Amino acid sequence: MLLGCIADDFTGATDLANNLVRSGMRTLQTIGVPAAPLEGEVDAVVVALKSRTIPAAEAVAQSLAALEWLKRAGCRQFYFKYCSTFDSTAQGNIGPVAEALMDALGAKIAIACPAFPTNARTIYMGNLFVGEVPLSESGMRHHPLTPMTDSNLVRVLQAQSRAKVGLVAWTAVAAGAAAIRARFDALQAAGVRLAVVDAINDADLHAIAAACAEHPLVTAGSGIAIGLPENFRRAGLLPPRANAAELPRVQGRAALISGSCSQATNGQVANWIASGRAAIRIDPLTIAQGGDAAAAALSKADPLLAAGPVLFYATSTPEEVKAVQAKLGVAEAGAMVERTLAAIAQGLIARGVRRLVVAGGETSGAVVQALGVEALKIGPQIDPGVPWTATLGPQPILLTLKSGNFGSEDFFAKSLQQLDEPARAP
Ligand code: ADP
Repeated sequence: MLLGCIADDFTGATDLANNLVRSGMRTLQTIGVPAAPLEGEVDAVVVALKSRTIPAAEAVAQSLAALEWLKRAGCRQFYFKYCSTFDSTAQGNIGPVAEALMDALGAKIAIACPAFPTNARTIYMGNLFVGEVPLSESGMRHHPLTPMTDSNLVRVLQAQSRAKVGLVAWTAVAAGAAAIRARFDALQAAGVRLAVVDAINDADLHAIAAACAEHPLVTAGSGIAIGLPENFRRAGLLPPRANAAELPRVQGRAALISGSCSQATNGQVANWIASGRAAIRIDPLTIAQGGDAAAAALSKADPLLAAGPVLFYATSTPEEVKAVQAKLGVAEAGAMVERTLAAIAQGLIARGVRRLVVAGGETSGAVVQALGVEALKIGPQIDPGVPWTATLGPQPILLTLKSGNFGSEDFFAKSLQQLDEPARAP
């Protein structure tokens, strides 16, 4: 086990794991801190926490518990993964968690680099850009929990950190790993412990990753992960792996569950239905009337499932969701739908489903919890940021957990078709 990662949310953990697999590391993602050591040979583990917006002290405690587990598993380097839009407030949690992990690891300096140029997140002179606009002019300025109103990451991180924050500007980054390391030394001599690092393209990410080879801790979005496996290969610790994304071959029925109401998911559900495939709508107002909505949907699906994959969807347009929320309450409507979809997932597994597509971040959390999933082996990518995964153990289930806005319009059919294709390189 080489790299131990701690992610502050579930889909972010998958995004990071996906990048590691694509760069040649066999990777597991765990849901929370596992109770016991895990079976199976892997090169990296990503512990998925839900610590982005909880009180800072709790985020620190959970992250330190994850670190302890990863240390016991034998990891050599550690990675704290946060959002590529640096989602945080003046209370944290990026600064406090980074500092606590540095203290626990005896790290003198660590980078802070949410850049992910592939997804149009770039940093120049410490300022984070989302596409063409500075962070503070992007949609993130209106985020309900972590509104980002300052694009200057040195200032943003300093506000939530005790340690001194500095900058490795692009001029050094563009000059390569040795120049970046020299800048780390200069910053450290000036008392800096957290270094925001500019990056505007993948070559920058590779140079930064190379410069961090000896750092006990890397704090970043998922972007830097594309460069870290090369450090381990260069050190002779990681053999070239053509099969890092390999999953067990699993026979069994297929089904899809969608609780996401995002624009992309609405398009994906419409695309599935328009192609004449089987779909069963889950109506929150029917759930609210009482009775067992999950059992009713499952018995409706029984004759269909034998013939092919069936989609269960609560997915609705924003107007429909607003109307339902006005009647049932926002949290209540969400919880009811999540409970029903989770019960449907359990019923599907009991009916022999072994390939399951789930759409929606919260929905995925509810399904994974209901199925008692503790860890997932990360497999081949379907669309950027969304891989197939497999549960561990003798009877694996193939799962893909898609956060709302990810995936192409034909994602549902495409993901299932991919499983029937001959194995191919990651
Ligand atoms: P996303 O990744 O798109 O944000 P999530 O699953 O995280 O999707 O969140 C969607 C939320 O909306 C869930 O809590 C889900 O239960 C809820 N929901 C789904 N369908 C409906 C609906 N028709 N009306 C109201 N709420 C819904």
